[in-house]
Amino acid sequence: MTESAWKLHRKRVDGLARTLTDSDGPVRLKKRTSNLFRPRADGERTELDVTSLNNVIEIDARAGVAEVEGMTTYVDLVDATLPYGLAPVIVPELKSITVGGAMTGLGIESSAFRYGLVHHTAHEIDVLAADGRVLTCSPEQRPELFFGFPNSYGSLGYTTRVRVGLIPVTPYVRLEHSRFSDPEQLFAAIDEECRNPGCAYLDGVYFSPGEFVLTRAHFVDSLPAGTSSSDYTWMQQYWKSLRQKDTDYLTIHDYLWRWDTDWFWCSKNVGAHLKLVRLLLGRRRLSSVTYQKIMRASHHWPLYLLSRLRPATESVIQDVDIPIANVAAFLAEFEAEIGIRPVWICPFVVPDGRFSLFELRTDTPYINFGFWDLVRSSEPDGYYNKRVEDLVAKLGGKKSLYSRSTYDKMTFWSEYDRDTYESLKRECDPDGRFPGLYEKAVKQG
Ligand SMILES: Cc1cc2nc3c(=O)[nH]c(=O)nc-3n(C[C@H](O)[C@H](O)[C@H](O)COP(=O)(O)OP(=O)(O)OC[C@H]3O[C@@H](n4cnc5c(N)ncnc54)[C@H](O)[C@@H]3O)c2cc1C
Repeated sequence: MTESAWKLHRKRVDGLARTLTDSDGPVRLKKRTSNLFRPRADGERTELDVTSLNNVIEIDARAGVAEVEGMTTYVDLVDATLPYGLAPVIVPELKSITVGGAMTGLGIESSAFRYGLVHHTAHEIDVLAADGRVLTCSPEQRPELFFGFPNSYGSLGYTTRVRVGLIPVTPYVRLEHSRFSDPEQLFAAIDEECRNPGCAYLDGVYFSPGEFVLTRAHFVDSLPAGTSSSDYTWMQQYWKSLRQKDTDYLTIHDYLWRWDTDWFWCSKNVGAHLKLVRLLLGRRRLSSVTYQKIMRASHHWPLYLLSRLRPATESVIQDVDIPIANVAAFLAEFEAEIGIRPVWICPFVVPDGRFSLFELRTDTPYINFGFWDLVRSSEPDGYYNKRVEDLVAKLGGKKSLYSRSTYDKMTFWSEYDRDTYESLKRECDPDGRFPGLYEKAVKQG
């Protein structure tokens, strides 16, 4: 069965390679879902239809790895691994994120305080280059491409296969929610967990100045007698429970997807926090995939026209990574200048500093702050996103590129390693069939 799964995989990749060799000029991905929050470039392009590249090829439970096609969503991958008592080391928490997207887009989740980001936990990848070659790379084989691929956002080529690391998990997790009023104490507690991990998963939420919740999740094999696991997949909202409960139990499946049902808390932006709307939508449709569709539709008439009637706003949808010594300063300035709340707090360590397009320090934990909302604005468009970029640069951090960026070219390339990138671009895409990283991330999408 595994042999035929590999055969089918090779056939699908050969088909994609043929699309590239039989065409010339610009290329773009054709896939059903996306978590990109910047507009895509218009214009004539060869479409690389990767929708069928969404299979788990093989799981080697003993070795703790899964061979996975690049466009496989994490929800499908988790469904395949849980029966073995295993889960990907990092499971980015939006169900439609794909392993390839997370590999190139710096996927993160609450196990990152132990293991790092998604690309730190991948063992090997295949990259489909612009001329149809499939380049296998790992820390040993073509290390420049392996270490230069994360943060390239499809501008060097597409991952068609990832060897994903897996960890053993239990059927349930016990959550402990601790409340903090002092950010220094909160970040000291996080720093300690990163250096001496005591729990399985760790993340937190900043609700308002003086109100933080830190959640430690512990693996448990079964529920205590008389206890049942909570259900936040329909009428109850997980993020609200953080303020109401000290201890909670979830199945491992529901824990991994705890943020998806309400897109963290952003479901309120489409009215999905209202009881009647939740009742009507039902469990299946309460998901980040539904909200993505609604947001995309809102860019079109007539919803777009309606949005023009509201007071002026700027969309600030960002994830930023700040070294832990500077996180309290970041949060204070962020609160004073941008003021979005809640903010997701996801600590991570950096086990390997060789990833050239997203260089991070290995001698300190970082905090990923996620904030996704509209800011009332009387400033020129882009002002608040630029303030975020300035703040991140001032505090020695790095910013994800899945959303809006305002950098000028010089500043951009002072943040990301241009020389290595350009040498990889010459190797993988000498004719510029894929957009360059700056053009893609800043100029167009
Ligand atoms: C509101 C919001 C919150 C987010 N929060 C989190 C979070 O908490 N944790 C987290 O991990 N991530 C988060 N992300 C970021 C997300 O992981 C990245 O945007 C990721 O790249 C999305 O993957 P995707 O599979 O949906 O790819 P897409 O959105 O379809 O594509 C993203 C980019 O990656 C490129 N790409 C896609 N597939 C491949 C491939 N196989 N090979 C090479 N390039 C490819 C595309 O060309 C595109 O430039 C968030 C994003 C949003 C919008």
